[in-house]
Amino acid sequence: MNNVIINEIQRFSFDNSNVRGERVLLNDAYQEIIKRKEYPLSLEKLLGEFVAAIALLRDIIKIDGVLSIQAKGHGFLSTLMMECDENQNLRGIAQWDDSEVVPEEISLKEVLEGGYLAITIQPRNGQRYQGIVEISGDTLAECLEQYFSQSEQLPSRVWLAANGTQCGGLFLQRLPAEQAKEGDEDAWERLIHLTSTVKEDELLGLETGELLHRLYHEEEVRLYDTKVMQFGCSCSRQRTFDAVMSLGAEEVRELLIEQGSVKVDCQFCAEIYEFTEEDLIDSLGDQAQTH
Ligand SMILES: [Zn+2]
Repeated sequence: MNNVIINEIQRFSFDNSNVRGERVLLNDAYQEIIKRKEYPLSLEKLLGEFVAAIALLRDIIKIDGVLSIQAKGHGFLSTLMMECDENQNLRGIAQWDDSEVVPEEISLKEVLEGGYLAITIQPRNGQRYQGIVEISGDTLAECLEQYFSQSEQLPSRVWLAANGTQCGGLFLQRLPAEQAKEGDEDAWERLIHLTSTVKEDELLGLETGELLHRLYHEEEVRLYDTKVMQFGCSCSRQRTFDAVMSLGAEEVRELLIEQGSVKVDCQFCAEIYEFTEEDLIDSLGDQAQTH
């Protein structure tokens, strides 16, 4: 396989039809996410599909804020969470029962038994919106397709792949009738058919221009600007401090007595925040007075 290192998402459209698309291929951002824990390869692959998925969603649902996908279930995987902000900063994590043997090939439905997918849109200023999809399909791509048909009511198709090194995805959406272009009734079916021939090593190994040429060489494809995506964590000392204080003055005092200081490590980026008695004492005093 070619080893192109790309951390980008790129939008495209077809000149003679009302179909738009997105292609994402990520390397570094994906690596940064999976290296935080000792994930088994099959989980790394599943995480990679979520990384590609959140990147696609980020570019499709344009909001000034944070977008997240959270999968929860009762299988050996309890939570898988991926998020992306308006500056294309990605972070994510999975929690699983490490007393169980993780199979080499895993299906979303199996690992999250009876679970669901929550897609949350949290604008910087405005109301939070959450869409829930039951995990009934075997793959994340199927679940996302279901999400799009529920939330946007536009026919959409998703292709995702990950191999522990790269993760990538393709997205096609048929735009509403008022934006339809004349003379190409069969375009949607034809483009799905063409895209369905994509192989994993093409999705993960080819630059976008080359991939699209290979898939759609008889179509008029228009490519738009690329956006770079990177790993980025939104944790901060102030936020961690607020989280510590939310435990309550009594609990924080106990921690100080037991451990000498309060240490919190961010699960997403492994940054360690340490608060000494001196850092905390003023706020503890305030809290004590209000209680
Ligand atoms: Zn962090």
